[in-house]
Amino acid sequence: MTQSSTSGNDSSGSQAMRTSRRNFLRTGAALTLGLSFPSLQWLSSCTNLQDHVAPVWSQLAARLQGSLLLPGAGTFSERAAPWALQYATTLPQGIAQCRSEADVQTCIQWAQEHKIPLVARSGGHSYGGYSTTTGLMIDVSAMTAFSLDPSTGLLTVGGGARNKHIFEGCKDLGRAITHGRCLEVGVAGLVLGGGIGFDMRSHGYTCDWLRETRIVLADGRILTCNENENADLFWACRGAGGGNFGIHTSFTFETFPVGRITVFDIKWTERIAETFAAIQLLTQSAPDSLGIKVSIVAEKKLGDTVLTLSILGQLAGSVAELVALLTPIFTVQQPTETTIREEKYWDGQGIISDEGKPEYSHERSRFVKGQLPNDAIQFILSSLRAWPGTSRAATWKYFLLGGKIDAKTSTDMAFVHRGYSMLSSIELEWNPSDGSAVIAQNEQWLAQFHDQMEQYTTPYCYQNFIDPSQRGYLQAYYGKNLPQLQAIKRKYDPTNLFRYPQSIPV
Ligand SMILES: Cc1cc2nc3c(=O)[nH]c(=O)nc-3n(C[C@H](O)[C@H](O)[C@H](O)COP(=O)(O)OP(=O)(O)OC[C@H]3O[C@@H](n4cnc5c(N)ncnc54)[C@H](O)[C@@H]3O)c2cc1C
Repeated sequence: MTQSSTSGNDSSGSQAMRTSRRNFLRTGAALTLGLSFPSLQWLSSCTNLQDHVAPVWSQLAARLQGSLLLPGAGTFSERAAPWALQYATTLPQGIAQCRSEADVQTCIQWAQEHKIPLVARSGGHSYGGYSTTTGLMIDVSAMTAFSLDPSTGLLTVGGGARNKHIFEGCKDLGRAITHGRCLEVGVAGLVLGGGIGFDMRSHGYTCDWLRETRIVLADGRILTCNENENADLFWACRGAGGGNFGIHTSFTFETFPVGRITVFDIKWTERIAETFAAIQLLTQSAPDSLGIKVSIVAEKKLGDTVLTLSILGQLAGSVAELVALLTPIFTVQQPTETTIREEKYWDGQGIISDEGKPEYSHERSRFVKGQLPNDAIQFILSSLRAWPGTSRAATWKYFLLGGKIDAKTSTDMAFVHRGYSMLSSIELEWNPSDGSAVIAQNEQWLAQFHDQMEQYTTPYCYQNFIDPSQRGYLQAYYGKNLPQLQAIKRKYDPTNLFRYPQSIPV
């Protein structure tokens, strides 16, 4: 029996369209007349509002099964806002809330007819705000249909599904894919740019589990891509990031069975250098069944910079096995906080997952080969201690790689990053109330820290931690696969319709 829900991918169309047209007519009028939101009440008593709305937008609204939101509509601001709030000032002229593949096709065709730039939005979690636009936002986030066939283990989700839909849908069936831990991150962005998670060492990246995807191209064609059909595009879609070739409307994954796991969240505030060295030593020889993120967080407390070291993750094993594994670290330093729990797989994910609420932040990544030497550890700690400070935090972290990730080669698919020990990154968070001078000083600190780390890392960066400040980003994200990606881009999107500041050029 297949577990499925099609609620998101339909079209309960007519109701949506009626609502949509009502909203559209009101808000479109507000937009055209330059009126503020409270004026809508007055407007709603007017007749012939259509006359005030640019006819091209009316045409789009009329052709959609989903709704079209224009500035001023009740949920416009909420839907327009990206996760990375520093990009929230870039507002679209309209948001098409697509309900079907046909809606996506309509939007792509309409935007080209009217020379309006477009962008796809799924979970909205692009670090660079690259699912924002001043044109048409093609929002597929309502396309969340989910089906999982236990007899084949094949899972198909709509192009707008988020991690939370994978959590909810897979929970009772005891199966999983490698997924992220933030509930609102889109499966589209995650898998198209690789996809890291605590299962990657035992099972590979998210993109390693993709078996098929459907995509709407610039010329309106809808292609099924898998190892046999449109295999070159299928190769490119697994790692070349979202927003480069077309708009994906569904993803089919092979899944793996899951049982019980032990999850952990452990913190240290004393002897950070020694404890970190012990953690690194252990992680370099850990079994593939261990998924772990190691973080050192800097925060300001009463003017001083305070560092906290933590490990978060899961072991496919018992509490006793985890404790035995971690004992060499506990021998160096006892933790200040310890959570260790054995749970059914998806209950365990509930403990180590995060909602991923919107914030102001900038994250910069580097893949690492081998162990970080002692002077690198000292450099990381002294850089964190020299953090100028915001009202939030700064974090250096790494996700342990290896294991099944390296069962594939760097040319098997576009995702090139194989053979590394860690994905490291530095994350800076702030609030606007910190002031522009403080934020600029912090950005400068981040730039220097990131640049100087290169002596200890590779020059390669994770495309899903997309970074508007990264120099030589195409090479950093795609390495030796870049020429092939450009050839595929020229074949499937010759007019470069799908573009953003760091997209693959034709
Ligand atoms: C809080 C947080 C937690 C994260 N955790 C993880 C993690 O655990 N593992 C990990 O690997 N990464 C993680 N990331 C990074 C994440 O994978 C990327 O930011 C990803 O691009 C987000 O996808 P999205 O669909 O949410 O974003 P969006 O902003 O909607 O899209 C990202 C890009 O893909 C394009 N796009 C969106 N939908 C489609 C579509 N249907 N077809 C074609 N292109 C599309 C957009 O135009 C944009 O260029 C995290 C990011 C954040 C902010």
